[in-house]
Amino acid sequence: MNNTNIVVRLNARPTGMPGREHFKICEEPLPDLQPEEIRVAISYISISPSLRMQMNARESYLPAVPIGGLLRARAVGEVVESRSSRFAKGDFVEGAFGPQSYYSGPVAGVMKIDPALAPIERYLGALGMSGLTAYFGLVHTCHPQAGQTLLVSAAAGSVGSIVGQIGKKLGCHVIGIAGGADKCAYVTNDLNYDACIDYRGEDVGQRLAELAPDGVDIFFDNVGGEILEATLANLAAGGMVSICGAISSYNDIDAICGPRNWLKLLERRATLKGFSVYDFQSDYSEALAILAGWIAGGAIKPAEHIEEGLERFGDVLPMLFHGSHRGKLILKI
Ligand code: NAP
Repeated sequence: MNNTNIVVRLNARPTGMPGREHFKICEEPLPDLQPEEIRVAISYISISPSLRMQMNARESYLPAVPIGGLLRARAVGEVVESRSSRFAKGDFVEGAFGPQSYYSGPVAGVMKIDPALAPIERYLGALGMSGLTAYFGLVHTCHPQAGQTLLVSAAAGSVGSIVGQIGKKLGCHVIGIAGGADKCAYVTNDLNYDACIDYRGEDVGQRLAELAPDGVDIFFDNVGGEILEATLANLAAGGMVSICGAISSYNDIDAICGPRNWLKLLERRATLKGFSVYDFQSDYSEALAILAGWIAGGAIKPAEHIEEGLERFGDVLPMLFHGSHRGKLILKI
């Protein structure tokens, strides 16, 4: 361990797409640890849509980060120094450590992870926040039943790829929405979805009417905007829409307007419900054990797309919006 920390700090607020010009790479001395603090050598950083929200001046579902501040990126690594009674040198951990080479700070919210059970980067995807979001947003929020039609947007992404596989495990008929024919082939061939609509090349509303003639029972929405509207028009009676996110509007959050056809909710006696994975913290370990069992049994195939180089943080973040990854997008240090 040398005494220098490489830190990627927010340097400007983007209008539209984020990029390397919005970050500054700083070399800073490592601080001394205070009682009950740990130092973590970070190996992998989660690249997730919430990072873009934190770059705005206005608070959204997560507090804004000040200019010069550190985005709350989740990350995994090894404890290299500890003054905490909870963690020892050599432990592997996951937490909101931020885009930097070393985290030095308190242990609140830090979870121990087991490198013998899975590669540590998986604790940022299927065995981390993405898996937990998929699990709680589908199982606890929508209560899916065998035979129901489940629709998932951003189906090839980190959360979406797991939602669809859980849906299949529970006996649902699962339809995905993704960008491009290749991604759709991945969604049906590799993720075991029953069908996938290419929103870039196909009319989503029309394809839904063909693929789900009796309507969509559950829509797990990661995207919002026109895709949400097309689905409201194709909801089954008593349908449920779980609002996980709305990535189509994260680069222009002030321009969001609600679905024009929201009265379909009344017509179909449907429910639209938002959820946050952070509301389920007391149940994380139980859910992770279930997810680990499904992965071990082959029902869920985890997928990670790994880019390399902390200095590339600002180049990798926009990949979320171009959709140039499959599964969990991760930056390796
Ligand atoms: P991800 O799905 O791995 O990546 C985002 C995907 O969104 C891209 O791969 C891209 O796929 C798609 N996309 C981007 N811009 C789009 C657009 N304009 N229209 C349609 N699709 C677009 O990201 P993730 O980490 O799994 O996050 C997915 C969603 O979950 C996000 O909305 C995020 O905010 C939300 N989330 C919510 C919670 C919660 O507690 N509620 C927790 C974690 C994440 P294509 O190539 O298919 O376009």
